[in-house]
Amino acid sequence: MNPASALVVRDLSISFDSRHGSITAIDSISFQLAKGEILGIVGESGAGKSLTGNALIGLLQGPGRIAGGEILLDGQRIDNLPPEDQRKIRGKRIGAIFQDPLTSLDPLMSVGDQLVETIRTHLPLTATAARGRAMDLLAEVGIADPAKRFGQYPHQFSGGMRQRIVIALAIAAEPEVIVADEPTTALDVSIQAQILALLRRLARDRGTAIMLVTHDMGVIAEIADRVAVMYAGRLVEIGPVDEVLRAARHPYAAGLMGLIPSLARREARLPQIAGSMPRPGHWPQGCSFHPRCAQAGPRCSAEVPVLASVAASTVACHLFSGGTALPKGT
Ligand code: SF4
Repeated sequence: MNPASALVVRDLSISFDSRHGSITAIDSISFQLAKGEILGIVGESGAGKSLTGNALIGLLQGPGRIAGGEILLDGQRIDNLPPEDQRKIRGKRIGAIFQDPLTSLDPLMSVGDQLVETIRTHLPLTATAARGRAMDLLAEVGIADPAKRFGQYPHQFSGGMRQRIVIALAIAAEPEVIVADEPTTALDVSIQAQILALLRRLARDRGTAIMLVTHDMGVIAEIADRVAVMYAGRLVEIGPVDEVLRAARHPYAAGLMGLIPSLARREARLPQIAGSMPRPGHWPQGCSFHPRCAQAGPRCSAEVPVLASVAASTVACHLFSGGTALPKGT
């Protein structure tokens, strides 16, 4: 493990128990997140991006469960802790930002009180000290005149301002990791750019590691350091953002990168790849992408490709299996 890793996910599998048996939704994925790094997780809806994020923040909903693997936060395994301990970690050591800020904010409580409550839940501060810290956080995330805004309610803020408040809540206890799930999808383009710049600054100045779940390649191009591409519950390519955006190797990743919308052209979302992604429980044998892949060969429908090193990236595709296959869990 890299000593600077804030988060290590090793062979993580997630299953859903149904009356037809156990259905695998995430199949043995592994990645690391260094301190201060922004890792973008991309893929179509249903690829398992949000499920992975929810597992990290302890918000997997039944009947979903971690079926294998482990999650280490700053070297400490957290996936097997009792629920109460996991709850303490959530919010303190791992912050969360979701697409709709209203799901994270209490409409009946002033934003200042929400911040003070979150701060005092996680940090041993007096009410006065927590209030001062709340003001500082509001200022840090770009809320002008925090003293006046402190006592206002969520509905008195714009969508962009509400998302800033959610970010203030997420960083209130100085978490090592933030999971941001489509944090800018509901926002106007200009506001989106401001929120991305704020996240970038948090990673750079505070050393917070950010896992950014998005289906918007423009967002990835804007702020991610590395990008991981998921398809049908598996990681198919992971590497430095420049390398993956410029020359993705996996045919699915290459298809995704075929069109990267700029922030000014958000109507252009994921490029079209013929066909649709299979649902969990209906994954084809071998490489799950083979029915849609123009480069599929006989081996592709028989054998699941393993991740192998190719330049600075790792790729799970038989076209690149001449690379150095990685041991499980790396
Ligand atoms: Fe295509 Fe085969 Fe590579 Fe899968 S393993 S992406 S089917 S070439």
